[in-house]
Amino acid sequence: MVFKEIFAGTFTSLFLSVIIIGSFFAYTNTVPANTAILNSLLFFLNNKQVEAAEVIAVPRIPDPLSKGLVSFTFDDGFKSAYSFGAPLLDAAGIHATFYIISAYGDNHGYVTPEEVQELSRRGHEIGAHTKTHPNLTKISSARARREIFGSRDDLAALGIKVKSFAYPYGGYNPSVQTVLRDTGYFSARTIVEATVSTSTNPFELGGLSVYARTSLEKVKKFLDEAHDKKQWAILVFHRIDEKGNPISIPHETLQSIIEYVEAKGMRVVTVSEGKEFMLGK
Ligand SMILES: [Zn+2]
Repeated sequence: MVFKEIFAGTFTSLFLSVIIIGSFFAYTNTVPANTAILNSLLFFLNNKQVEAAEVIAVPRIPDPLSKGLVSFTFDDGFKSAYSFGAPLLDAAGIHATFYIISAYGDNHGYVTPEEVQELSRRGHEIGAHTKTHPNLTKISSARARREIFGSRDDLAALGIKVKSFAYPYGGYNPSVQTVLRDTGYFSARTIVEATVSTSTNPFELGGLSVYARTSLEKVKKFLDEAHDKKQWAILVFHRIDEKGNPISIPHETLQSIIEYVEAKGMRVVTVSEGKEFMLGK
């Protein structure tokens, strides 16, 4: 529509220029030939204007939600998600969101601060998941503040400005949400099994946890729902390994999910991107 108007405007300007130049000719040199030239120019431009309006396709801005959104999120910063999950995502050109427990950097089985920085350099989003993973509804408000502010500051010390948060054990209440807003987070993810719509509270983003017991069919159904309703499916992963842990899934399962998302043509976003597309800034 705007394009159409710009083109119409351009032709109107051309049209006016020709009249002005033509009038100048007519004034200085009243030769009938000039009038004839002017008339043919006007005829040409008039026709051209109609053609231009018909031929020029109005550019369509692609709707980012047309096939639904998907986010791959990884809670806790498990080493296996880094070692076995991230390479599959990188190969598929997918940017995931890794929610890091910021004081676990030296713990065996978790990503080191250097690995967190490397994930960020590779285009993945780093989100916060507190410093030590308490259920924020079961500790004092002073400690909850320290966990929320502290994880932001720990990641800032690595050069990472966090926007997204995930609740340990999915635990939240209104006072926790107020602290999150005060700290400067833009969203927080729960583990409530629901797709995100345009009316979802950004501090109550739902997500489907993909555990060892979760069937691929269930994951596909969740993705289908977001696709069909033009909503946002957030998938929650923990460990990517074959250890038989209830929160582990084999890398083949992650690969199958990636391929399903690709086949459906769904747009893969980090949580902060999805938040903007679905819920605005
Ligand atoms: Zn967790």
